[in-house]
Amino acid sequence: MTKANIPAVGIDLGTTYSVVARLDERGQPVTLVNAEGDRLTPSVVLLDGDDVVVGKEAMKAMSSEADRVAECAKRDMGHRAYHRVIGGKQYPPEVIQAWILNKLRSDAVQQIGPFEQAVITVPAYFDEVRRKATQDAGYLAGCEVLDIINEPTAAAVAFGFQHGFLNAAGSADRPRHVLVYDLGGGTFDVTVMEIRGSEFLALATDGDVALGGYDWDQRLLNMAADAFQREHSLDLRTNAVAVGKLWRECEDAKRTLSARPKAPIVAEYQGKVVRLEISREQFEETTQDLLDRTRFTCVQALRAASLEWSDLDHVLLVGGSTRMPMVRAMLQKISGKVPDASMAADEAVAHGAALQAGLILAKSDGRPATFSIRNVNSHSLGVVGTDPQTKRRRNGIVIPRNTPLPVSAKRQFKTAKHDQRSILVQIVEGESPSADDCTSIGRCTVADLPSELPAKSPIDVIFNYQADGRLKVRVQVPQMDRLLETEIVRENGLSKEHLDAWRRHISGQKATEYR
Ligand code: AMP
Repeated sequence: MTKANIPAVGIDLGTTYSVVARLDERGQPVTLVNAEGDRLTPSVVLLDGDDVVVGKEAMKAMSSEADRVAECAKRDMGHRAYHRVIGGKQYPPEVIQAWILNKLRSDAVQQIGPFEQAVITVPAYFDEVRRKATQDAGYLAGCEVLDIINEPTAAAVAFGFQHGFLNAAGSADRPRHVLVYDLGGGTFDVTVMEIRGSEFLALATDGDVALGGYDWDQRLLNMAADAFQREHSLDLRTNAVAVGKLWRECEDAKRTLSARPKAPIVAEYQGKVVRLEISREQFEETTQDLLDRTRFTCVQALRAASLEWSDLDHVLLVGGSTRMPMVRAMLQKISGKVPDASMAADEAVAHGAALQAGLILAKSDGRPATFSIRNVNSHSLGVVGTDPQTKRRRNGIVIPRNTPLPVSAKRQFKTAKHDQRSILVQIVEGESPSADDCTSIGRCTVADLPSELPAKSPIDVIFNYQADGRLKVRVQVPQMDRLLETEIVRENGLSKEHLDAWRRHISGQKATEYR
């Protein structure tokens, strides 16, 4: 098969819903429907004995079999295990994500024939560890991950495509500054971009990997559960099934409140019932602090991009939660512009990913590129050192956040003693001066230092942040003029052996545990 025949597929692996898109024969991104005929697949997994059910049916089971259902696993990426035990077992979050990817891929195969390659999107604010876990989830699901791209960047590319910036005529136009406000189910991202013809340049990015529509749902859930407790002196939050059922009610009510001034919520537990009517005003009041957090993050991102609100040409809305009127009103007030909701909020990210997949396949086939993307890193990269005075572990920043990618940076270490044969480098991501408050990426051991090196010999460690936000580390011993590759040993990642065992198993869609 030539590259021209390989479908260009983009996957938005969302916290609450996932979407698959491909480029059609004319190069237009189109959303693929799943086996149930829906454009959005709930990112929910039901582990039913040895069977794995993903999507709408799994979501339905949340109200009756909540203890066998995994939802919002994306929020746990980068952790060793999903935050709840499912059916008595612990699963790595990348395995849960892989089951979702497997369903997305096999449904897509029914329509477009077999394919393995795909571009998968991640929140811009995902750190290196979470990006690696996403790539691993792709591997587990039998995908060849062509690229990992940032969700807001993907949305901006889809926007650029829709507005003709990617045409020859569009490219000559003046640069535009766009703020992409992406509030999904479980994550919040803001990225300030400059669209210079067909070049998409991220200027700054910021966000919160634990803030999304889900938190708005939780507030409604707490309101309803409190009312239930006042009336019946029972806390239904102690029962997973009752919570699962009420959560669905609340998510529904939240959507209603985007269109109507009032919404009903019914809380039921142990045969007792409470009926509430929530007004939009009450809802907005009880979630105001969540919205304020997103506003504050936008201000920080603009500042990091050295722009003012008045410099922006567009404020782009991405993610299902931007349908809440409070989001639009806040952005309009602060930016003085009507936020642009012209793109399908849920589908724009997958469309941008499909465009990027098309670009990669075209380039590898020798066809010309129609656009280019340049990203920045969302977290500072540092190495751990010890403060000589306090003896505390410090974060020595090597690559500051919002640096254009790809980038390489060199840090020199000195051997401590004569004939030292190895050096240990601990790598972290984060802004805090204290290494303990940062995310540990892992350790690199440089094991093969030449013998008889005198004490205090320089050793250069070269960090290479790739365009997709993944890290490679190499080591150079200047006296030897030799480059040594070094593997990062990760603290929370799955070993290759575990990955391969899960991969074999996931292809059979079985839930048996490997850890
Ligand atoms: P995404 O991850 O972008 O698909 O966004 C999913 C989130 O959007 C979920 O939290 C949904 O509850 C939320 N959402 C979808 N439609 C609406 C709506 N009409 N009003 C409020 N929230 C919505």
